[in-house]
Amino acid sequence: MKISLTLRRLVEDRADGRCEYCLVHRDDVGTAHEVDHVRSVKHSGKATKDNLAYSCLECNRFKGSDLGSVDIDGEFFSFYNPRRDDWNDHFRIVGARIEALTPTGEVTVRILQLNSSRRVRDRSRLQDLGAYPK
Ligand SMILES: [Zn+2]
Repeated sequence: MKISLTLRRLVEDRADGRCEYCLVHRDDVGTAHEVDHVRSVKHSGKATKDNLAYSCLECNRFKGSDLGSVDIDGEFFSFYNPRRDDWNDHFRIVGARIEALTPTGEVTVRILQLNSSRRVRDRSRLQDLGAYPK
C-alpha cells in the first residue's frame, strides 16, 4: 500500500526520528527506519496516520504482519500500539535492556526480539554516547 511522502514525513516527525518500539534513533543504525502499519495491511490496517508508526528495520521485520502473541497460558495479547498506548506504561529501560511491565509489553519484547544480545550491546554503546535513554 502506497504511503504518500507527506504522510511518511508526518510519521517520521511525530516520532522525532526514533523507532517507536525500541526507541533507537534513525541516525544510530546502519539501516533506514520504515513506516510500519500498526495493524498490518493483511489484517485490514489502513495507511492512515492513526495506524502508522515509525519503526527501525529490525522491529518491523520481527513484527511482520503479526498483531500480538500469546502468553505461556495461551492468552492472546496485542503488541504495544504506539498510537494508543504510552511506552512508559508497558516498558522500562533497565541497564540497556527493555523490560516489559505488562503482558502487552512482554509479547512485544519477545516477538520483536528487543533484548537480543546484540541489540542490548548496541544500546549500551549508544547510552555511553548519550544517544539512547537510560
Ligand atoms: Zn526498533
